[in-house]
Order: sequence, then structure tokens, then C-alpha cells
Amino acid sequence: MHEWALAEAIVSAASEIAEKERLKEITHVTIKIGELQQVDQDILKFALSQLKTAKLKKAKFNIETEKAKLKCRFCGHNWAFEEEKLDETASEAIHFVPEIAHTYIKCPKCGSPDFEILEGRGVVLQSVKGAKQP
Ligand SMILES: [Zn+2]
Repeated sequence: MHEWALAEAIVSAASEIAEKERLKEITHVTIKIGELQQVDQDILKFALSQLKTAKLKKAKFNIETEKAKLKCRFCGHNWAFEEEKLDETASEAIHFVPEIAHTYIKCPKCGSPDFEILEGRGVVLQSVKGAKQP
């Protein structure tokens, strides 16, 4: 259900930007989703298509994935999270509780489970493009 809440937030943020920029209509919306956020993009796209306001009628939603970047708190090593390396159970667990990632992911250099997430969580409304009012 969190895809629907997300879609609502995106639609209202895009509408606000359109208001501020005096856009007659919005043509393109780019959204960046952190890899660790694990949003179901099909559900999100469907939700977006259902929640479209008049200004968003012709809008195309472009969804990009932001790769996760992790940093070990113990040795300072930076690495990119690769989801393929996790088994199905771990992946599901992360979807529901991102904090649980610490149980499954360890620093590839020193093996410490104590890391911070530098990039790859959260959802960003990257850009809103549209036609200006005359
Ligand atoms: Zn380390």
C-alpha cells in the first residue's frame, strides 16, 4: 500500500511545482527511487495513472533507480549494494523493514554489519517539465 501513498505524494508535489512554475500542464515527471526503498514500480505507475489530476493528464512518468551506496562505520570502506547477492527472504525483509538490512548486509572488506546508507533510500522528485502558461 505504500506505493499508493507514494503516488499521492508525487502527484501533490508535482502539482505544487506546476502551480509555482505557472505550468499549464505537466508533460514529464522524473522520479528517482532509492534501490533500498524497493518500491514496486508497476504498482506505483498504476497508482500514478489513477491519481492523475487534470494538469497531469498528459504527463509521462519516468522512474529511475538510484543505486545504493553503503559505508562501513568500522573501516570506512564504501561499496555498492547489489541486490542479486541477497536471497529472496532477505530481499522481502528489506522491503518491509529497511533497518533489517543490517542483518543481511555486511562490509565486504572487514565483515562488520555496522554501516551507514549513503545513497539509495528515499524517493526524490527529480524534475517536473511542462508547458508554461502564455
Ligand atoms: Zn568494513
